[in-house]
Amino acid sequence: MKNVLYIVVPCYNEQEVLPETARRLKEKIQDLTECKLIDKESRIVFVNDGSKDQTWNLIEKLYMEDSLYCGVNLSRNRGHQNALLAGLSVAVQYADMMITLDADLQDDINAIDGMVRKFQEGYEIVYGVRSSRKKDTFFKRFTAEGYYKVLKILGVDIVFNHADYRLMSKRAVEGLMEFEEVNLFLRGIVPQIGYKSATVTYERAERFAGESKYPLKKMIAFALEGITSFSVKPLKFIANLGMVVCLISLGMFIWSIVQHFLGHTVEGWSSIMVSIWFLGGVQLTSLGVIGEYIGKIYGETKRRPKFIIETVLHDKKGE
Ligand code: UDP
Ligand code: MG
Repeated sequence: MKNVLYIVVPCYNEQEVLPETARRLKEKIQDLTECKLIDKESRIVFVNDGSKDQTWNLIEKLYMEDSLYCGVNLSRNRGHQNALLAGLSVAVQYADMMITLDADLQDDINAIDGMVRKFQEGYEIVYGVRSSRKKDTFFKRFTAEGYYKVLKILGVDIVFNHADYRLMSKRAVEGLMEFEEVNLFLRGIVPQIGYKSATVTYERAERFAGESKYPLKKMIAFALEGITSFSVKPLKFIANLGMVVCLISLGMFIWSIVQHFLGHTVEGWSSIMVSIWFLGGVQLTSLGVIGEYIGKIYGETKRRPKFIIETVLHDKKGE
């Protein structure tokens, strides 16, 4: 079995961290090569996601100095997830296993050893999972963990406390390439690929230089992406709500009639009360029904692969 490892690093305005990151990753690759865990054809791929600073120049310089480094330059900024996919699409042509990693090395690179070992034990996807969120602010910890729980409730298959630090085998990445959807939320898609998977835990550190490229606004957009790309439950919720309101309107109907006969009402009150509730219920239910169909159309437009074949057993006559 060949063990060529490609490390894919998306970079957006990362000039402050890039030289140090390159140095540390090189050391890591050298260590792993010496221990014979990976082959010497292994590489580090920096993906420049339309940076406005010196990032691409730095990547070019690294590539000139040492062929261990490779570069992929995107035509413009397309966001973290697209940059990862672009890097993987190049790496998959040469690598047997690929690890995706942020440029700020917040993900502990010492977890790479464990990931590679798991790969050699036959796992095709190895998720890096944060052991704790002690270093996060209370706000970040609370929102992040709450978010994973909400995703679970909405039926999204996701690995708890795993971001985009993971190892994938060649065929797992080939499987990923079969997904044609445009709205990318990789940590939701990757579990859908299947194959044998494992987890490796690590401590997440703070960014050692530069600042976060994920301000709150982008984070919320990304979080909503995760929900709307993987769950049509919010649409179903409308339909259910409509039915509940219809039921309430029935109760209101009885109550209004009673009030009417008890003489507690002014002229016209009962009919208005009943129609408000009933019409509200009908409208919500209708919206929900339309939502059901939109959900179906939505599923179809994503053109996800219906299956990925892992092995085929077939007699050898044809060979
Ligand atoms: N990134 C990217 N394109 C973007 C935003 C971010 O490629 O539009 C990269 C960034 O360079 C880094 C990774 O995505 O390698 C994660 O970003 P960051 O560390 O700023 O996010 P945080 O860790 O604060 O959530
Ligand atoms: Mg970071």
